Amino acid sequence: MREALKLARTTPAGDVPVGALVYGPDGAVVGRGVNRREADGDPTAHAEVEAIRDAARTLGTWRLDGCELVVTLEPCTMCAGAVLGARVSSLVFGAFETKTGAVGSVLDAVREPRHLFVPEVMGGVLEEENAELLGEFFQGLRAGNCE
Ligand SMILES: [Zn+2]
Repeated sequence: MREALKLARTTPAGDVPVGALVYGPDGAVVGRGVNRREADGDPTAHAEVEAIRDAARTLGTWRLDGCELVVTLEPCTMCAGAVLGARVSSLVFGAFETKTGAVGSVLDAVREPRHLFVPEVMGGVLEEENAELLGEFFQGLRAGNCE
């Protein structure tokens, strides 16, 4: 998670800082992503989707069985769907997202027993540090708006 947090700090200016890493079955990092929605003008360019795409390229397959996704913020519905679609075995996230979180906060799109596949989930890891980074970002936005 500390690595994901470090990565989140490299998010392009103007984008909400979120970092995601995919660890392969052997524990090595196979995918990295940061939120690039504003930078790329792409509504799907969330850190998780970027990291999953990167991992699929690295491993040469869309199936990320045995992989773990570590992300600094609770995934949204789209990213929860991407985790399921990629068959990511384990999902670890940092701060809870009370407005859009789809892994327990607003809804739980991942741990749905009717899915064919349900990954292991661990949330709230280094929650305080992850929330702090987001807090800094939004505080900066507010300060910017006052100028
Ligand atoms: Zn998302």
